[in-house]
Amino acid sequence: MSQFWSDLVAGLTPYVPGEQPKLPNLVKLNTNENPYPPSPRALEALRGEIGEGLRLYPDPEACRLKAAIASYYQVTPSQVFVGNGSDEVLAHAFLGLLKHDAPLLFPDISYSFYPVYCGLYGIDGRSVPLNEQFEICVDDYLNAPNCGAIIFPNPNAPTGRLLPLAEIERLLDGKPDVVVVVDEAYIDFGGKTAIALVDRHPNLLVVQTLSKSRSLAGLRVGFAVGHADLIEALERVKNSFNSYPLDRLAIAGAAAAIEDRAYFEATCQAVINSREQLVGDMTALGFNVLPSAANFIFARHPGQDAGDLAAALRARNIIVRHFRQPRIEQYLRITIGSDAQCAALVAALREILGG
Ligand SMILES: *Cc1c(COP(=O)(O)O)cnc(C)c1O
Repeated sequence: MSQFWSDLVAGLTPYVPGEQPKLPNLVKLNTNENPYPPSPRALEALRGEIGEGLRLYPDPEACRLKAAIASYYQVTPSQVFVGNGSDEVLAHAFLGLLKHDAPLLFPDISYSFYPVYCGLYGIDGRSVPLNEQFEICVDDYLNAPNCGAIIFPNPNAPTGRLLPLAEIERLLDGKPDVVVVVDEAYIDFGGKTAIALVDRHPNLLVVQTLSKSRSLAGLRVGFAVGHADLIEALERVKNSFNSYPLDRLAIAGAAAAIEDRAYFEATCQAVINSREQLVGDMTALGFNVLPSAANFIFARHPGQDAGDLAAALRARNIIVRHFRQPRIEQYLRITIGSDAQCAALVAALREILGG
């Protein structure tokens, strides 16, 4: 706290990212990074970008990347927005599309950045409880008396549960006058993207990231797809904030990653296979594991305190995410690592549980 701070800054409750400890031999299963390296074609494009060209500013429109995304998802470049990580894309959506007189609705158990953006931008955010099975209930949103906009992750984080596309469409049909943002950070690990719905629903904005399914968390690239009018709102915010959020390396590397469809599909499938194996192993150890369509699982052990389990894993150099939050304090969120990392986790859990 300082006399020099603005009232706004003094009142903020910032997001706390999962830790990035620099310990050797750490089994890092706490921030949903991909265990596989980025596409070799992306790495080659990055290397090709290092040179004299860095003297010049990047393309402020990142046309090359927008074209790659538009071509992959069969939309037009005017339906695509790109930003410095999907967190930045989301931030611009909060300011440009989700801030209205009526409240913004999102699930009570969800991405913890949403309430942070509400605080930053003075948005009245209201949480809508998930049901007992931790599912999003579309009717709760349709029946909300006062709703200015809606946002949720799909699959949801940190639960991993997927809302079927038909339910999203039912929500869009029932709420044609409010913007619905679907944050698809994990959609490539088992869901179907709602991008197919944007042509029929001008109130739908789909946000994705290259951080998880394309193994590029370090490059910071995210994007949104929606009606050109929604995209224009994001461009207006972006161009009032930072004209060059994506540097030359990010544009080149991200475009090459999107173009390398075969590598992307193979690594996503490998993560899905590892997830199914881990779910089986943990269930055998007595864990209740929620059905996951993401690159992480959300699990509890009926006979063990989750905080104690997380600490015992940490003592064995394995870090997972534990949220001290109502309803989920007995759950652990565990990123799907390589098969060797998953095996190390299962061996450690077996030892901790004394089996
Ligand atoms: C990881 C994550 C993001 C942020 O991704 P970046 O592109 O790395 O900023 C957004 N939403 C959810 C739900 C996430 O889990």
